[in-house]
Amino acid sequence: MSTDPLIPATAQSILGLDVLFNNPVFAGGIGLAGLGAAAALGRRAVIGGTALLRRQMLVNVEISKRDPSYPWVLQWLAQPREPGGFVAQRITRLRNLAVMTTTKSIDPGGRGAIDGGGAGRTHADFRVQPGYGRHIIRHRPGVFIAVNREKASTTNTSTGEPHETLTLTLLWAHRHLLADVFTEAHALAQRFAEGKTVVYSARRMNWEPLGKPRLKRPLGSVILDEGVKERIVGDVKEFLAAQQWYTDRGVPYRRGYLLYGPPGTGKTSFIQALAGELDYSVAMVNLSEVGITDDLLAQLLTQLPEKSILLLEDVDAAFANRRQRDADGYSGQTVTFSGLLNALDGLAAGEDRIAFLTTNHIDRLDPALIRPGRVDMMVRIGEATRYQAAEMWSRYYGDIDGDGAGCQRFIQRLDELGLFGESKDPSVPARHTSTAAIQGLFQFNKGDMEGAIKMAEGLIPQTFVP
Ligand code: ADP
Repeated sequence: MSTDPLIPATAQSILGLDVLFNNPVFAGGIGLAGLGAAAALGRRAVIGGTALLRRQMLVNVEISKRDPSYPWVLQWLAQPREPGGFVAQRITRLRNLAVMTTTKSIDPGGRGAIDGGGAGRTHADFRVQPGYGRHIIRHRPGVFIAVNREKASTTNTSTGEPHETLTLTLLWAHRHLLADVFTEAHALAQRFAEGKTVVYSARRMNWEPLGKPRLKRPLGSVILDEGVKERIVGDVKEFLAAQQWYTDRGVPYRRGYLLYGPPGTGKTSFIQALAGELDYSVAMVNLSEVGITDDLLAQLLTQLPEKSILLLEDVDAAFANRRQRDADGYSGQTVTFSGLLNALDGLAAGEDRIAFLTTNHIDRLDPALIRPGRVDMMVRIGEATRYQAAEMWSRYYGDIDGDGAGCQRFIQRLDELGLFGESKDPSVPARHTSTAAIQGLFQFNKGDMEGAIKMAEGLIPQTFVP
């Protein structure tokens, strides 16, 4: 008979435990149950221990997609290892990669305006980023960072977009390296943008860089009529230097410029070059684009990238909509006049801001737009003048046209064709040409002055015959 030392012999026989324990099935069951309980306990201990370990020994940093550091850190994570370089981390286990493809038109001149030159060809750029899910990267020898990129189930109520976060987890002992991560990511983003202009456009309720940062366009490469460029650049620089003046008077530190005139006269190119000159980026929204609503515009303005010029293209779209609304009560997915005003000086408008508005149809705008803080300066950027044609000539042929005789003949030819808005010959109508057309002519005749003069007739605007 088996005896349990902990239970007195009498009790064992009274309870009949000896019979039970002598039963091999019962004893086996007890054994299994004991093992199960031990396993469950062990599991709970491990889970509890892991949670404790996580709490005590790990540090998490959550970065929301709305934070400016989000794209920097993503870009930093995607950096290949550079031996000896300052970016020394390596993705050691990356199960999901996301490819971000950006395409842009290739401008025949190679220095096109923001929306490209419209040559029809496109250049695609692929960038690999950590996709959604968990990844582990080796930051430095012996330092690992767990990365969790996830889309939350909640959505941003104002945009309807799902929240997105990036969580970095490090050992508590390595927490001091977090500052390095952000410093490196920021430095990397700046290095990418150095000597370049970042152009942001509205995409999926957020500002997203439109392709890679472009090489800064020199201001000298945009030829506006005499003194026009200097006047605008001078005014912007004066505004930037006067922040204290605005603060002292409690006036919102904002300035607006309206550039109007026909297409292809260099409005967009000038704004891009100005941003480069000031070391600013450009945050661009085209108001004629379907889907740009008042709410979206207001939302975008609350998160305007730092040090950026807000560029609102085709602002006349807001007025066309108003007329349309007045006429038939239509409410489409477009910006309204009040939405535009709100963006410029209402609640949605940020505290510090430089805005450039462009339009090809000044006649469609409401005079209410021209108020301090909304539009402080209005400048017509018009068709090519003699001054501009000559300046562009010297940029293209200055080095081969020593005495300037070629330039004189070119200007004379444009005069004969009535392209400066006047004509001495009654059989030749007075008309205009654009700086974009002159640029196209010179691009086509690179290094060939005679060719450019011969083909000057091509600058006559074609009347469209359906
Ligand atoms: P807009 O915004 O007035 O429609 P863009 O700036 O988009 O005109 O110009 C279209 C193209 O023509 C660009 O490739 C640009 O380089 C060229 N271009 C137009 N006007 C000028 C100008 N005044 N100086 C230099 N380039 C110009």
